[in-house]
Amino acid sequence: MARVYNFSAGPSMLPLPVLERASREMVEYGSSGQSVMEMSHRSREYGEIIAHCEALLREVMAIPDNYKVLFLQGGASLQFSMVPLNLMTTGKADYVLTGQWAKKAIEEARKVGQVNVVASSQDKTYSYIPNIPREACDPQADYFYICYNNTIYGTAFQEVPDTGSVPLVADVSSCFLSEPMDVSRFGMLFAGAQKNFGPAGVVVAIIREDLIGHAREGIPTMLDYKTHADNDSMFNTPPTYAIYVCGLVLEWLKSLGGLSAMAAINREKAAILYDYLDSSSFFRGTVERNSRSLMNVPFVIGDADLEKKFIREAEAAGLVNLKGHRSVGGMRASIYNAMPVEGVRALVAFMKKFETDNR
Ligand SMILES: *Cc1c(COP(=O)(O)O)cnc(C)c1O
Repeated sequence: MARVYNFSAGPSMLPLPVLERASREMVEYGSSGQSVMEMSHRSREYGEIIAHCEALLREVMAIPDNYKVLFLQGGASLQFSMVPLNLMTTGKADYVLTGQWAKKAIEEARKVGQVNVVASSQDKTYSYIPNIPREACDPQADYFYICYNNTIYGTAFQEVPDTGSVPLVADVSSCFLSEPMDVSRFGMLFAGAQKNFGPAGVVVAIIREDLIGHAREGIPTMLDYKTHADNDSMFNTPPTYAIYVCGLVLEWLKSLGGLSAMAAINREKAAILYDYLDSSSFFRGTVERNSRSLMNVPFVIGDADLEKKFIREAEAAGLVNLKGHRSVGGMRASIYNAMPVEGVRALVAFMKKFETDNR
């Protein structure tokens, strides 16, 4: 078996020990006589699996008791609609425009109410996190929305914005569980699993309880957070297998030492790549230094033919999915939790050789 180093932005790598354990338990989970995929979501065994996953997530992230953890479907993209449908109680919210995922969230929110874009980095292809001028923010807004880590552009907020009493809502899809986060600073966090948590098909929403139960009247039952909160994410069939694998990922994270240990490894990996990019006169990172993401690292050579060649040769060397997003071009290395340090070292060694051979 030759596993590649997969630098995809998502779906992306899962930790090998997690895949191995899932594979051992694939045909028969415990002594249940069946696969997790075949179990009734109402069975005792499955009830334990989902409860264990939630308990581990609460432990690993130190989620305060007054927050609900919901396992939802529809991708992070459905949250772009569910957030305004549930939280826009007076009909207006502040948004920061830091890239395509923020833009899509803004477009959906505009269908529900009034969106005030308080800051934007669109002028420089979203290559930085803009300052948020206090006077642009509405103290009466129903919530303040950010995309914490911008998967496509490789930028990340370096600190949690202070929004006073306005609840902060953050799309953390591509930085979920990458470092400790003070959940109490947020009204709500959500993450599609396939970036940094588990398989595609499940979205985790962590919501302060007082924000639940004020949804717009007449919205579909399935789009109301209260439906899912009241039914422990079991109003309908949840994505059972994906949640099970998320639980295995959390066990793996815990065995490594939790989020502070994970953050140290992620900082080490990112430093290896950024230090090389900063020292190279051939490759160049596209993001302003003080806005850099630990998870997604876009870079360019500045010559489309050489970039194509780089991506092709890297793939042949087992370093796959390095092509940048079509809106940025060049390359992007996504180095989520499951990417080992050796994978980043292998990438940098390959880049050095490519630089020498093609300069
Ligand atoms: C991938 C991604 C999304 C979209 O996720 P889906 O699950 O495909 O809907 C939204 N926000 C961010 C930050 C992402 O990285």
